[in-house]
Amino acid sequence: MLLVSLLWLAGPVAAVPNVSVQMRVVPATHSFTCRYTIALAADDTATTLVLNLGRQLRIENLLSSGSTPRATRVYYPYFDDTLQQVVAHFSGRARMVSVTYSGTLEGRLFNDRALVFSGHSGWLPFRPYRDYEVVNYVLEVQAPAGYQVESASAEAEQRAGRWTFRGRAGAIEITALVAREFQQLASAGAPRIRVVTVGPALTRTDTMLLRKAEGIIAYYNRSIGQLDPITRFTILLPGTNSDAFGMLENATMITYTDFDVAADREALLILAHEISHKWWGYGNVHTYNDWLNEAFATYSSLLYLREAGDEAGYQAELAKRAATVGNAPPIRGFDYRKYPRPMYRRVVYNKGTVVLAALHERLGTTQFVRLLGAVAARHVRDTDTLLAIVAQNNGQATRDWLLAELSR
Ligand SMILES: [Zn+2]
Repeated sequence: MLLVSLLWLAGPVAAVPNVSVQMRVVPATHSFTCRYTIALAADDTATTLVLNLGRQLRIENLLSSGSTPRATRVYYPYFDDTLQQVVAHFSGRARMVSVTYSGTLEGRLFNDRALVFSGHSGWLPFRPYRDYEVVNYVLEVQAPAGYQVESASAEAEQRAGRWTFRGRAGAIEITALVAREFQQLASAGAPRIRVVTVGPALTRTDTMLLRKAEGIIAYYNRSIGQLDPITRFTILLPGTNSDAFGMLENATMITYTDFDVAADREALLILAHEISHKWWGYGNVHTYNDWLNEAFATYSSLLYLREAGDEAGYQAELAKRAATVGNAPPIRGFDYRKYPRPMYRRVVYNKGTVVLAALHERLGTTQFVRLLGAVAARHVRDTDTLLAIVAQNNGQATRDWLLAELSR
């Protein structure tokens, strides 16, 4: 099996790492065994490859094209916890590490119907401070008889209890939803939007969710996504009731059991926020550049509210956030390690949203939306690149104004 993945990993030159994940899941005990193999892109000449792995995972085997990797324990500030770190050194051209490990899902990641292996499940290794780097992947999931597997992409090969998915995703966002039964609702036309839910029957709430997602995606595709539109999208609803998150790979996981976009403005904003992470997911989550993800996603959701005719809602949601930023530190250079956790939301989400609203006001809707489209298409990772795009599109004075807003 490893030989097969190595041959595949040695394939055509790619700018991003190639990852192969072979997972066997045991639903009865919520446990799993994984073989994770990463090969660096041919143009990546690093002589060392470091992988972080959750503290709770049991490493069973380590292989590498270089020196025999070692695993040590290190502190990872982002988790405020220790984890295991695997380090391999290379001398030749091949840069590949393979880790075999087993683990058990935490209680918030399963219910009596489904098991969630995804962005917040801590089930995959990742390079330090590159949790969300884009990788090409092949995911193979082996599940016992009577179980099905779903992922972000609809296309899967299925053979004798094995599901294979291929795609391009954030490193820790590779997703497998395992359940006895799925229900699916899909839009009739393009883009193809799917609502995938776990359980015996679809409800009216699922239909409403699909309709709202169609409206949100149609709006985004003619605004922030005008240069890079969504052509397919998957909404996964495992019903485990812990959180919601968007993924680069045209998908979102919404676990809330009472999620009703027709009844609740909060739910509608969450849906719009998470869908927009398809574009807003390239900023480094370990630095203040996370505002490029979270403030942009939050402001995109507010723009949708306004587009849908809820001007009062737009104003109220903006005012709610503005009220929290009074004496918050500057966005530029904000270091989450130096503040209590709640400050993160005030600076990176709320203050960032207020700055974007002010930029919107300054530029007017036509220019502002065109700027968002340009930023989205460029997969901007850092604020200096954003400032350069603003200078190019909107002039030096606006660029200097934005820098001042981010610095105060
Ligand atoms: Zn977000």
